Amino acid sequence: MSKKEARSDSDISDVSDEQEWLNEDDDEGDEETVQVISLLDDRVFPDAMSMVSYCKEKYGFDFLAVRDRLQLDFHGTVKLINFIRQRVHEGSTLPDEISAKDLEDDAYLKPILDDDALIMCLDDLPEPSAPVKEAKQSEVSPEDLIKRNSELQSELEALAKQFNNYRLAVQQTLDTRWGEDDTETSTKAPGAPSRAQDSLDAGKAGNDYSESYFASYARNEIHETMLKDRVRTDAYRDFIYRNKHLFAGKVVLDIGCGTGILSMFCAKAGAKQVIAVDNSAIIDKAREIIFDNGLDDKIVCLHGRVEEVTLPVKQVDIIVSEWMGYCLLYEAMLPSVLWARDRYLKPDGLLVPSHANMWISPIASPGYFPDEYLTDHIDFWRDVYGFDMKAMQANIYDDVRVDVLPSDCLASAPCAFSMLDLHTVKVEDLVFTKPWHTKFSENASTLFGFLIWFDIFFAPSRDDKTIADTATAADWAAGGPERVAFTTGPAGEPTHWKQGVVINKEYAEAKITSKELQGEISFSIPESYTRGLNIGITWEAPQHGKKGDTWLLH
Ligand code: SAH
Repeated sequence: MSKKEARSDSDISDVSDEQEWLNEDDDEGDEETVQVISLLDDRVFPDAMSMVSYCKEKYGFDFLAVRDRLQLDFHGTVKLINFIRQRVHEGSTLPDEISAKDLEDDAYLKPILDDDALIMCLDDLPEPSAPVKEAKQSEVSPEDLIKRNSELQSELEALAKQFNNYRLAVQQTLDTRWGEDDTETSTKAPGAPSRAQDSLDAGKAGNDYSESYFASYARNEIHETMLKDRVRTDAYRDFIYRNKHLFAGKVVLDIGCGTGILSMFCAKAGAKQVIAVDNSAIIDKAREIIFDNGLDDKIVCLHGRVEEVTLPVKQVDIIVSEWMGYCLLYEAMLPSVLWARDRYLKPDGLLVPSHANMWISPIASPGYFPDEYLTDHIDFWRDVYGFDMKAMQANIYDDVRVDVLPSDCLASAPCAFSMLDLHTVKVEDLVFTKPWHTKFSENASTLFGFLIWFDIFFAPSRDDKTIADTATAADWAAGGPERVAFTTGPAGEPTHWKQGVVINKEYAEAKITSKELQGEISFSIPESYTRGLNIGITWEAPQHGKKGDTWLLH
């Protein structure tokens, strides 16, 4: 390449007369002579080092010192050269102190001058001197050290603050002390339901039944029982897997995730994100289980009451929850689900399950009742291994018993008394008095008591109009594979919820001759235990007058 070409190829065109003269002069000599163009002006030098010395002498710019201070390797030095050439070409001044940041852009690897001889001669420059940092430190003044010291002090304080915030965030998410935290750092969501608030207050007074409630869910057995209840677990799985299109790409909130089973069904069905919340220590197991099954990228586990944790999203598309207790409402978990529904579920969001129906039926002799039942459960106490335990019989008729009864114990067609649409039901609706009415079977004679159970429905749409108030799980689910429902009543396979049995204290005199039987059933919350239930039933038949009683499930 001729010297002329080198110049004319360059982006820098205005060559001084002096420069021209130099070029011409060189032209007369060896064609291969190197021409290193000054970094800071148009002068040309026969080698890199003389150019570097020239810049230092004339402009006080020490190219080698900059290279060594920034500890630049070959590419770094190329970037430095092009950075300087770019600035000079633009007519802008160089920074007082060129920094590594100035050279970050890889665009500076592209030569500003074509065939830049300086770049080609870099090897001719002296090797970098000893580690620059040490050399620099000896030059640092005491004032600089004090300044740096106070900068580091502030950095440390900022980091300590950040760490403290991080620690609090971790504590709020992972701490097992949810519900005890009374400080300003508590993330209690505004508008938490009064019942949750009551139990928090009760907790402070040392009367928080929720503590033992959540502790009971930390145990293995309870989860084993639930997971092995195939009627229950299959129903959730079948609904989620048969309706994957509903879950695909959706954000799901699993309230009371337990071992995480429902969250994992949802994740497998294609949910974009599942937020699994539980206030029991079981959440630690859920986290591990979810990790072990490779679903931790989809499911986030939050420890705390759903009313108190801070969700990573404002709204969710679907809420899934297994909240049902004995006689449906025992445990009082539904209010938490309804609270979360109102706070987090999108207006068109889906609740899984979607409906719950409650049933009552009189139980009467003949059949299994009353003799066998009384022998098994009441008379039993009169002779236990030869000991009289009649003390155990005291108030025995006051409790709701939880038992699985055979379907031949029913003295009438079951009567549906409360269909709950979970998308719309309110907490106030869970305390109620409802009428019931049925016809005594032909052969029934003695009103021994009542059996209470529930059916659960999973509708694929929140606007479902196919579930009639008196729908049975079996009839409705027969309408299509996307419909899933199950019963806990005597017509179905037994579940871990069994049924609620209440015994009529006066059954011995309760001969019913009329075929018509009606009355009211009420559910309320006992003061003694807010997660329990008071169930009141009245019954009335022509010529028999009105009777009634109340039983406690605690
Ligand atoms: N979803 C699991 C477990 C259901 S049992 C399964 O189907 O197997 C109900 C769970 O809800 C329990 O683990 C209980 O600790 C939790 N729970 C009840 N009320 C809660 C609330 N308000 N906030 C968070 N978790 C709750």
